[in-house]
Amino acid sequence: MLCPTCQHKESRVLESRSTEGKQSIRRRRECLNCKRRFTTYERIEFVPITIIKRDGRQESFERSKLLRGIIRACEKTTVTHQRIEAIVDEIEAKLQNSIAREFTTDDIGELVLKNLRHENEVAYVRFASVYRKFQGIKDFIETLNHLQETTWAVPSDQEDELWQQSNNTESSTAVVDYLHR
Ligand SMILES: [Zn+2]
Repeated sequence: MLCPTCQHKESRVLESRSTEGKQSIRRRRECLNCKRRFTTYERIEFVPITIIKRDGRQESFERSKLLRGIIRACEKTTVTHQRIEAIVDEIEAKLQNSIAREFTTDDIGELVLKNLRHENEVAYVRFASVYRKFQGIKDFIETLNHLQETTWAVPSDQEDELWQQSNNTESSTAVVDYLHR
């Protein structure tokens, strides 16, 4: 940081203090050359992320909205709130670390599904049904078939475990639950 008076490069910090709300740090500095004092502020840079909806409307990304959607999909499953928070953290970090500042709802939806896929089949199908706007039982069957197809494309040492998972009736129960809602 150059001294505003003499452009000297070095200064010493006399005092550091958080501003109200702790959103930034104010530092009182003294130029090592001309001894003039000046103040600098250090702030977290919030880069807003824009979500483009299917109808073309834009809105800023909201973590709470994503969290709510995943909580709803995970209701009455074995997925803990802690795991849900971790999934949201992971997705949010992925978006923040990306060069892109705009994402479509489809981008977000696929990221969620990728995570839920490994977490819980019921949550996966529920989330897919809402986000892909399932029109009827055909869409459910397609998704379930796809789930089973991809289930088989795993190393043989994991097959037993996955076979048990795909053999349970939870997935079809979720379909019925959804249709009767
Ligand atoms: Zn100076």
